[in-house]
Amino acid sequence: MLKINNLMAGYGNATVLKGINIEIKSGEFVSIIGPNGAGKSTLLKCIFGIIKPSSGSIQFEDQNLRKMDSSEIIKKGLMLCPEGRQLVGTLTVQENIQLGAYLRNDDIKEDFHLIYQLFPRLQERKAQQARTLSGGEQQMTAIARALMGKPKLLILDEVTLGLAPIIIKEIGRKLLDLNKMKITMLLVEQNAQLALNLSDRSYVMEYGRIVKEGLSKDLKNDRDVQAAYLGV
Ligand code: ADP
Repeated sequence: MLKINNLMAGYGNATVLKGINIEIKSGEFVSIIGPNGAGKSTLLKCIFGIIKPSSGSIQFEDQNLRKMDSSEIIKKGLMLCPEGRQLVGTLTVQENIQLGAYLRNDDIKEDFHLIYQLFPRLQERKAQQARTLSGGEQQMTAIARALMGKPKLLILDEVTLGLAPIIIKEIGRKLLDLNKMKITMLLVEQNAQLALNLSDRSYVMEYGRIVKEGLSKDLKNDRDVQAAYLGV
C-alpha cells in the first residue's frame, strides 16, 4: 500500500532523513519506534507533502505522493492523527470530529454513527468544548477526527504522549479494533513497549536511518532493542 524508497529530506542544508526504506502492506499494523530527534516527524511531513524530499520516492497504491500537495494526498486515503492532538479547544467534540471530513462532500451521518459506537464516551460528550476534556478523551477525539477522513492508511504520531497507563491501554485496544476493521495502521511512537505489543511489524529509526526492522514479536526479544528501548 505504501512504499518509501531511499527517501532523503531535511531542512535547509541539514539532511535529516538519510535514505529511508519502508513498506506497508494493506491491512498491516506497522510501527516506527526511535528516540527523540531520529527524524520520525520529518518522515511524516514528507508523506503528507508538508516538506519536499530531496530524493527518493513515496508510492501509495500505485501513485507517487512526491508530486502531490497535502490535500491531494489526504484525498487518496491517508489521514494523520498528529502529535499533540491539535484540537480546536473552543469547538465541541462533534465539531472537531467533523473537521476531519473537510475534504469530503458525501454524507457523513453514518460515519458519526460508527465513530460513536467505537467511542461511546465521545458521544456522551459530543456537545462539550474540546478544551474541557481529559487528555485521553482529547486523544480519542483526535483519532475520531482522523477517522472522519475515511482513511485507508491511518498514521498516528505519538498518540500516548502524556497519558496515564490505564488510558494508554484503552487507546491501544481501540487501535487494534480499528485494524480489525481493515484500516491499515502506521503508529509512530516513543513508547516502544506499546508499539511492539500492538503492531505486526516494526522499524527502528535512529539518526535518520532505519537501523532494524522485523516482526514486532521478534524485535521484542532482540537484545539491542531491549537494551535501548525496553529498559531490559
Ligand atoms: P523525531 O520526530 O524523531 O523526534 P524530528 O523529525 O522532529 O525527529 O527531528 C529530526 C531532526 O530534524 C532533529 O535534529 C531536529 O532538530 C531537526 N528538525 C526538525 N524540525 C526542524 C525544522 N523545522 N527546522 C530545522 N530542523 C528541524
